[in-house]
Amino acid sequence: MARYPDMTEYVHGHCFRTMTNVGWLGRGTAFDTRPTSPQFRQALLELVARIRVNVTPGFRQCDLCGAGPGIEVPFEGGTIVLGNAELHFRGWRGFSFAAPDLIYHYVAEHGYRPPKPFMEDVLEMAPRYRVPKGASNFTRNYDDLSEYVNFTIDDNRTRVNIGWLGLGSTFDTGETSPEFRRALLELIDLRGVCTMRGWRQCEFCDGYEVAVPYATARHGRLLLGNQEVHVPGANGVIYAATNLVYHYVVAHGYRPPAQFVEAVLVAAAQPGWDDEAVGPLPW
Ligand SMILES: [Zn+2]
Ligand SMILES: [Zn+2]
Repeated sequence: MARYPDMTEYVHGHCFRTMTNVGWLGRGTAFDTRPTSPQFRQALLELVARIRVNVTPGFRQCDLCGAGPGIEVPFEGGTIVLGNAELHFRGWRGFSFAAPDLIYHYVAEHGYRPPKPFMEDVLEMAPRYRVPKGASNFTRNYDDLSEYVNFTIDDNRTRVNIGWLGLGSTFDTGETSPEFRRALLELIDLRGVCTMRGWRQCEFCDGYEVAVPYATARHGRLLLGNQEVHVPGANGVIYAATNLVYHYVVAHGYRPPAQFVEAVLVAAAQPGWDDEAVGPLPW
């Protein structure tokens, strides 16, 4: 696994913001081993379990003890597996931290004591992630394939939700093909509908503006969170997704239902776009 000294600048990944590395340990890394409190360890475990960024298809091993790949940790009556994600969060003091999820294992099993600003922010922030945020237009979350209600659209089509994720959501994770990702981004760029005045934010990234690199967009990047994309599927069903769905796929390892993936590939491959197929949508 990559190693970076604590409190250096985090530079890889999808982020456009400045983040600070913590806990990227490897064999031979010297680190502080003064004890940490049980409260800190519990708070860290909560954050690591709830915020999972840059999820990879495979699991990593612990470089220090060889445990894994994938380290199981009991959490809230179940088990979480560490070794395939990062923890990103913004603290109170201006730092945005980026740590491997294995940081919890390093602290709990190897006595690693992270830098003080990180420990303080973990204790401060963990409670904020305990309850899903309230339902406003911009933070409402829906189960995949549930009935679409975000905008009232007066026709008799069946519309179902895709990718309206948030902290309380359970969702499938796993690999998605580059063709699907490319097709999805293309539809989002060309076929955005239901524009909102505000921006839906990614709850996993805690309120940052979400932008993705996109060559043909202005300034070379596409801002996500204020539009939807409606994709006609088989049997007359229309899949209605927030355009943040692309970010959830790329940054958080979300794997949408297979029928949506199929519909996106088919729609993007068509030479034109049949407006009639998706109904009278507000732009
Ligand atoms: Zn270990
Ligand atoms: Zn995010």
